[in-house]
Amino acid sequence: MKRYDAILVIEDEEDIRQMICEILENEGYETLQAANGSEGMEALQHSPEIGIIITDLIMPEKEGIETIAEIRKDFPRIRILAISGGGIGMPENYLNLARALGANATLSKPFGRKELLNALENLER
Ligand SMILES: [Mg+2]
Repeated sequence: MKRYDAILVIEDEEDIRQMICEILENEGYETLQAANGSEGMEALQHSPEIGIIITDLIMPEKEGIETIAEIRKDFPRIRILAISGGGIGMPENYLNLARALGANATLSKPFGRKELLNALENLER
């Protein structure tokens, strides 16, 4: 991965969002944060340095599936990692749908530092 790509983290749970950003910043990445898809799209319009997006799927306001479809339409070259713990029922189905709509990789919650960094590396393949 190119270290000059900023990473936008879209996640409604603040403690998870902070945890992800801390891991990334410790690795030298620049991070931006958004609490839902609407905030994420707003950040994208103003931050051309964003090269990678990590997005949760189940969020209030605008959820991740819709957000991924929108990002794919407007920003085809941005790499997307979808993360989800599922919520009601079947997390795998959400992650598969995310992939079908253009996520480059998926990761199930809960995950640790190593799994997150591995998933990011896979984005470049
Ligand atoms: Mg959520």
